[in-house]
Amino acid sequence: MVETSPHSNADLEKVRLEVRCWLDEHSPSKPSFKLPDSFLEVSSNEQFEYLRAWQRAVYEAGYLGMSWPEEFGGRGLPQAYQGVVNDEMATRNRPFMLNIVGLMWAGPVILKFGTPEQKKRYLAPLLRADEIWCQGFSEPENGSDLANVQTTAIRDGDDFVINGTKIWTSLGTQAHHMILLARTDPEAGSKYRGLTFFLAPVDGPGVDKRPIRKMTGEFGFNETHFDNARVPASCMLGEEGQGWSIAMATLAFERYAEGGQAGGLDMVQLRVAELVDMARECRRDGRPAIEDPIVRETLTRLSIEERAIDLNDIRRDLPGLCRERPDAIGLMRKLVTSEFRRRMCRFAVGLQGEGAKLYIGDPDAYEDGDWQRHYMNAYSVTIGGGTSQIQMNILGERVLGLGKD
Ligand SMILES: Cc1cc2nc3c(=O)[nH]c(=O)nc-3n(C[C@H](O)[C@H](O)[C@H](O)COP(=O)(O)OP(=O)(O)OC[C@H]3O[C@@H](n4cnc5c(N)ncnc54)[C@H](O)[C@@H]3O)c2cc1C
Repeated sequence: MVETSPHSNADLEKVRLEVRCWLDEHSPSKPSFKLPDSFLEVSSNEQFEYLRAWQRAVYEAGYLGMSWPEEFGGRGLPQAYQGVVNDEMATRNRPFMLNIVGLMWAGPVILKFGTPEQKKRYLAPLLRADEIWCQGFSEPENGSDLANVQTTAIRDGDDFVINGTKIWTSLGTQAHHMILLARTDPEAGSKYRGLTFFLAPVDGPGVDKRPIRKMTGEFGFNETHFDNARVPASCMLGEEGQGWSIAMATLAFERYAEGGQAGGLDMVQLRVAELVDMARECRRDGRPAIEDPIVRETLTRLSIEERAIDLNDIRRDLPGLCRERPDAIGLMRKLVTSEFRRRMCRFAVGLQGEGAKLYIGDPDAYEDGDWQRHYMNAYSVTIGGGTSQIQMNILGERVLGLGKD
């Protein structure tokens, strides 16, 4: 177990060894059912309960929320400790966390803007996965244009009354709370003003959830309809009308452009080394695919990119190595990693030749069709949290200093 001591490389190495041993001894055994690729596709109760138990075990061992204050369920340690734990989990490809919206963006934004009562109320249950969080930003007509939110929250005594529809709500079916962006003042004069941010309960009256099926056949997100749902004013985060700036802060956490997340993995780790093995096993023109020069060149390029991503992650934490544009690495991370994963999975499916059309459940599918599912799910992160086009706009404007046109 980690001790609260000054942060030095020796301390970090001690934590690394401890977490390694813990993971070797305590990781859950492989379930009899298929786990999803990420928290975005949790569809069945058995997947949900398995992942919930795993998150709880990790938290109880002291390996989640390590940098959050002790009074709110954390350990008050430097974020570097959490980084070491995350690295070890990634290297061993341990199951991802369930309550990612809570751990990675609702929690940090509550820590940043919440009252002491809100922090006390929400943070520890979120770390233990006792209470599940979802995000209500997107609407049927407003995704990239987030400021155009049409869902209303109208004050009525000590409550706000919510009406409208949110869509693509990941984990919405299982969630207890939603970080909700709603319009409290439709007359504010600008779409950016008059928005307010709520920590809204979504398991009570007036909230109707309709699951949406994905192209993989899985579920994981839903439509959330609010019909005169009442939310106490004490659930407002920040001030009335401050919703836009809190939503922007939330997206900075979501896109990992800002640190302070509670940790753990958010999806199955895929590495190019697996594709090398696949290229040895799959055949092209009657020979192992790895003998094809185009396959070899693609694998080499992918390996170089993967290495660059790993090195950039290290560089991000060393200010001396990104002095000119300190935000650039954080801002580009989501774009680069999500697009890389999509291309890598596409190549993996292509390597299977005719077998590419076989899917999960087909006895002849390569590795049970998992790569076909990885490929389809790889599009998710290129869209959720802001599409790749939007990320490119942000990089163009904020990093390269290009005009909005
Ligand atoms: C798997 C998944 C999980 C999700 N989970 C959640 C969730 O939990 N909560 C939530 O609130 N939302 C969630 N979303 C929704 C996601 O945030 C939106 O889909 C995304 O922001 C895009 O919005 P949109 O779908 O309305 O597309 P649109 O905004 O209509 O965009 C359509 C196309 O136009 C492009 N485009 C739009 N504006 C511009 C521009 N200014 N410049 C260049 N190109 C542009 C887009 O890049 C895209 O290709 C999820 C989405 C996915 C795929």
